[in-house]
Amino acid sequence: MESALAACLADFEGHAMRWPAASMSPAIIDRACGCLLGLALGDALGATVEFMTPREIRAQYGTHARIRGGGWLRLPSGAVTDDTGMALALADCLIAHHEPAAADYARAFDTWMRSKPVDIGNTVRRGISRFRRSGEACAPPSDDAGNGATMRCAPAALAFLAARPAHLAEHALAQARVTHHCPLTDAATLAVVFMVRAAVLGAGIGAVMALAHTLVRHFPAFGFRGRQVENPSGYIVDTLCAVLQAIDYNDNARDALIDVVNRGGDADTTGAIAGCIAGALDGAARLPADWLDALDPRIGQQCGRAVQPLLARSLPQG
Ligand code: MN
Ligand code: MN
Repeated sequence: MESALAACLADFEGHAMRWPAASMSPAIIDRACGCLLGLALGDALGATVEFMTPREIRAQYGTHARIRGGGWLRLPSGAVTDDTGMALALADCLIAHHEPAAADYARAFDTWMRSKPVDIGNTVRRGISRFRRSGEACAPPSDDAGNGATMRCAPAALAFLAARPAHLAEHALAQARVTHHCPLTDAATLAVVFMVRAAVLGAGIGAVMALAHTLVRHFPAFGFRGRQVENPSGYIVDTLCAVLQAIDYNDNARDALIDVVNRGGDADTTGAIAGCIAGALDGAARLPADWLDALDPRIGQQCGRAVQPLLARSLPQG
């Protein structure tokens, strides 16, 4: 598995070398905003139907396509959950430290956990608790392949947009391994950061799906070209297969997010991951205005405010 990860990473890096070097442009900024806002919108939309089955969703909402809060967390309309909370904590860490160490990532997640978030995954809690107890910022290797490291990874792609691909990979894995240390979660996290990078740089859906197929070639478990994944669990393979199907079958972020959250299961997290990729493909200007209006304005502002400082290190001419 470790050698599969190294081979997969080498292929991701090979793809990344083909994309044009970033230069400051309004389109790049718009797509980076779309990435973070898409993540938050997918989380807010999906949280309403998290842990419901597609049949239950249909009975209650027909097609769930409006940001309305509720769900098992009884959220106010427009609220987000741990997916966005951890992504924003990661963004803050990447802005505060030019070159975060593993312990900086762990401290950022620890601070987030102390803020009493509305929800938190078991693996995330265990990882942060271990860091508190031992100061060890890297989880021991395990088979625990939850989706919590992947749901929050997008800001790393923005911060290291113009870095060597290996440099992006190193940071994507360091933040992941604070809580998750498994070849499947590592591979999924690397796939998502390279997809976001490709999308923000303007390489388009073809480059994004080429990365998905590269992932499948090295880790066949992620094979998504088959039966539609319904009720995706928090297992990263289920989560990412649902996300990749929704991105592959739909040609815009709104439709991709409606598709993926109406599959139920871990819907806020499939929404968040699909949202950061599809939002980066579409850009903020093409995200649905009614969803942006419904999003908690503090979250929208935090996403917007993070973009320039995240991109600043890659695009210093700003
Ligand atoms: Mn959540
Ligand atoms: Mn979730």
